Amino acid sequence: MKTSIAIIGAGIAGITLARNLSAHADVTVFEKSRGLGGRMANRRREGFAFDHGAQYFTARSPAFKATAESAAAGGHAGIWPKAVHTLKADGLVSDTRPPEPRYVGTPAMSAFAHGLAEGLHIRKEATVAEIVSADAGWALGDNDGNDLGRFDLVISTAPAPQTGRLMPETFSGHAALNAAEMSGCFTLMIGLQAPLDLGFEAARIEDDVLSWIAVETSKPGRPAKTALTIHSRNDWAEANLERDRDAVKSEMLQSLDRLLGKDFSTAPWLDLHRWRYANVEKPIGQPYLFDASLGLGACGDWCLGNRVEAAVESAQALSQLLTQRLQGA
Ligand SMILES: Cc1cc2nc3c(=O)[nH]c(=O)nc-3n(C[C@H](O)[C@H](O)[C@H](O)COP(=O)(O)OP(=O)(O)OC[C@H]3O[C@@H](n4cnc5c(N)ncnc54)[C@H](O)[C@@H]3O)c2cc1C
Repeated sequence: MKTSIAIIGAGIAGITLARNLSAHADVTVFEKSRGLGGRMANRRREGFAFDHGAQYFTARSPAFKATAESAAAGGHAGIWPKAVHTLKADGLVSDTRPPEPRYVGTPAMSAFAHGLAEGLHIRKEATVAEIVSADAGWALGDNDGNDLGRFDLVISTAPAPQTGRLMPETFSGHAALNAAEMSGCFTLMIGLQAPLDLGFEAARIEDDVLSWIAVETSKPGRPAKTALTIHSRNDWAEANLERDRDAVKSEMLQSLDRLLGKDFSTAPWLDLHRWRYANVEKPIGQPYLFDASLGLGACGDWCLGNRVEAAVESAQALSQLLTQRLQGA
């Protein structure tokens, strides 16, 4: 009988792992939300489309570049933005560096993950709340006490603090999980009635509150209705995580007004998303965690760095180890 593996999380790390292991094992991916892609997230409201998590990804390793190019050939990815400018209080600074190819999912960020997830066994809206030792393996349960099945190996790709809360006390990776540092972020989404030319597709922002602005409409394959996505700074988000949402929204809008000279407070669509664990401040500096004696492991961006490709590299490294183990089994 094939080894059974539960993967927690259908972000890019979980999907990469599942793709690599499915030929060698019975793999089930559990994802707590309705969609795939994790922080490569998007939402569509009243005809406005927003990528409210990762904005674009780069592919520096030949293997991931091939994956990105193949997704582009299959219509699941495209190149964006042409340049990333810098927006400061005293104006816009153009990006004159030679462009490194930057990719987005098409027609929305999560489409990249969806394309890679074809054929995988993924249980959506299934939150793993407990991992309990059972029959020389692990029994998973959800928040309502429902049995999610028994597995030989369990790998978590949830952000490090969430993985830490989920893993049994005996897991040898707790010290490393505790050492990882992640920070929050607020994402402001603005939908506008009329077209808007800001003179850029995307810009980093030098400001006390904001860090990023993207004109969603300039991304490939998006609807024509003008939509802007704005990220807060991570340190500002950390200081304001529990603050009233309207107050957060209003301070972000005020900052935008200062920078662009535009008041968006009466825009037809305004929405705010709070990311509790958005970005990796301090990765653990090893590609994955695996406790061979317990059959428990973990991987994700928090192992290697704050990028989509870091999550992929972490999952690739753990897949290699597990594939060798499965082939030797
Ligand atoms: C606002 C923001 C902007 C960013 N910008 C960029 C960028 O421009 N470029 C870039 O390269 N990277 C960016 N990133 C980082 C990038 O999104 C991440 O590095 C990458 O997506 C992490 O992938 P992952 O699979 O490791 O984790 P995740 O995407 O977080 O996947 C983990 C999955 O596990 C699921 N999960 C968690 N707990 C459970 C549970 N108990 N049961 C079941 N499922 C569970 C979650 O729902 C999630 O789907 C950004 C992130 C954010 C939030």
